[in-house]
This record gives sequence, C-alpha cells and structure tokens, in this order.
Amino acid sequence: MMTGDRFLLRDEGRGRGLARLLKRLTPEHPIRIVHVCGTHEITISEHGLRHLLPEGVTVLEGPGCPVCVTSTVDLDRAVALAERGVVVCTFGDMMRVPGTRKTLDDVRTEGASVHTVLSAADAVARARRTPDRDVVFFAVGFETTSPGTAAVLLDDPPENFSVLCAHKLIPPAVGALMDMPGTKLDGLLAPGHVSTVIGARAYAQLAEGHRLPVVIGGFEPLDVLYALVVLLKQLREGRAEVENAYPRAVSWGGSPRAQELIRCAFVPCDARWRGIGTIPVSGLAVRDERAHLDAAHRYDLPEREGQEVVPGCRCADVLVARAVPSDCPLFGAACTPLTPVGPCMVGAEGACSVWHRHGGRAGL
Ligand code: SF4
Repeated sequence: MMTGDRFLLRDEGRGRGLARLLKRLTPEHPIRIVHVCGTHEITISEHGLRHLLPEGVTVLEGPGCPVCVTSTVDLDRAVALAERGVVVCTFGDMMRVPGTRKTLDDVRTEGASVHTVLSAADAVARARRTPDRDVVFFAVGFETTSPGTAAVLLDDPPENFSVLCAHKLIPPAVGALMDMPGTKLDGLLAPGHVSTVIGARAYAQLAEGHRLPVVIGGFEPLDVLYALVVLLKQLREGRAEVENAYPRAVSWGGSPRAQELIRCAFVPCDARWRGIGTIPVSGLAVRDERAHLDAAHRYDLPEREGQEVVPGCRCADVLVARAVPSDCPLFGAACTPLTPVGPCMVGAEGACSVWHRHGGRAGL
C-alpha cells in the first residue's frame, strides 16, 4: 500500500480501516470462502484475521498445501526408488509425510540416500557431483515450483538425473471442488504466488463457468484483509468475476516466460490428489520427447494404489474444505506435529499443522 512516498506492508490504522469495511459488508446469508494456499492460512492464523471477519463469513483452507495433496501413489514410488539405491532429492516438507508403508525420512534412517533440496537445480547439482549414482528429483508443488523443474528438464541435465513428476495445477482443483456434492463455496481467495505465474485470466473460466467470485490476494495481513473486502463486495453486488487485489505482483496474463517453460517441458494430465482422488487435467507429466528424463518411465515404476488417508484422519475433508482441523478427533491428541497421523499435520503449510502452531481453535 502506498502512502506518500512510503510503501507500507504493515500498518495498524489501515488494518483497522479494512476491518471496519469488512464489518460493513456483513452478508445476509452465511458465506463460505475457500483459499488454496498454505501461506494464506499462515497469515490468517498467525494474525488472528478470522476474528475480524463479519458474522456469517467462514474462510477455509482447501487443497492448497502441496505436500498434503501429493498422492501416496507418487510418494510410495519415491520411497521404492530410495530403497532400490537411487538418490532421491525433494523439498524438506515431503520427508515426513506418511506413505503407505514408510516416509522418506524412514528410509533415510534405514540408510537410503534421501536429501532435502531447495530447488530442482540443487538436485541437478548433486547429480553432477555424484556421476556414479542415479539421482531423482521428486517434484511436487503447484505452478510456483513447476517452472523450476521445467527449467532443469530443458537445460540438458546429466544422464544420471531424472524427475519423478507429481506437479499439480490449481484452477482444475478448484473446479473439481465446486463440482463436489456437499461442498458449498461462495468465493475463492486465489493464491498470489501461483497467480504471478498463471495470471489472473487463468481463473476466468472458473468465475464464469461456476459463477464463482475470485479475488487474488497477497500474503501480508493487509493484503488478505483487502482481498476479502473486495470479495465480499463482489458477493454483495451479485457479481462473479476475477479481480486482482495483488497488482504489485500479479498481472492479467501472468509470466509468459514461466508459462513457456511449463509448456515446453510438460503436458497436462489427469492427476491423483491425496484424499480427493483423480482430477481430470489437474497435473503435469513430462513430455514424451523428454521421457528419458522421466523417472516413472526410466525405472518402470508401477502405479500402485496406496493408503491415502488412515482411518480416523479427516484430511480428506479438510482438503476439500468440508471440515476444519479441530473437527478431527485426533487433532492435538494422537495427531500433533511431532506425531503426525495425516499429511495435513506434517508440512509447514498443512492446515492442521498451521492450526496446531497457532492454538488450534476454530476462529483463529
Ligand atoms: S489432525 Fe491429523 S489426523 Fe486429523 S485431519 Fe489433521 S492430519 Fe489428519
């Protein structure tokens, strides 16, 4: 936010002003807003923004935590590769996510070579340093991380490097959420970072086809409050449009360079989402012309059904915004960040993990 020649990301007065605007937009009927971004959940919970919502407005996290939605089919494949002696590199949050039999951390403890990396390029660097070992980058995440994976696939990586691809796409997942029976959603607070890549126009079909108001929001508390004001105003006026409340980072068309990388390296495919099932055209597969860099192809990895959610865990409901973490009887009891039962309690962006860190009560 600009004020004079200063750019303010935190300002109590403006926060109070936005909170007053929110109250003035109190809806006549209950409203359910979904966001699909762990970073939004962190901002909302850490700053207690749910306390500022008008009566009748609920904001829920949907399938926005990348490690939470990574299917056990893919995770079990990564575990199997590590057990076969392949060096597996992936993002840190993925290490403790429960697979059907084991986590990646378990196999590392048993002696397998599993490493956390900050990017696909780090995994390539490891492959170059260890030419006598096969190195696989287990690629998870949304449109924010897939351009980085695409860049290494297109940049002639060493022969001992390949990618186990589990990248996913946000707009088809929101569309699937809207089509699910029993999931009533009135608006989408769209993720700022994904939107820097795909652009605001990527949500146009959702807004039009599902009559869903969409507002793109940034990650500062003021950004989130402002985006919610814009969203509630849109709802009050009966519009269903895409609005960009994060123009300092997001444009209508997004990043042409990142989109080009994704297009050249990947092809859209049906994808499994943990606890949700298969969503058509919601994932990315390595293009056939780069099949030699596709670990699933190189190692002939079968797609085996795994245990997506253990009995008692309500991650499947949390991930489709049908429940909040404190609805789960295991929350904070059998399931804590130290003893995670389901994927939503593992990653820093998982709804259960965020709620546990910030008090674990509805209304945070
Ligand atoms: S609290 Fe644990 S068991 Fe319950 S939904 Fe969350 S991750 Fe699953």
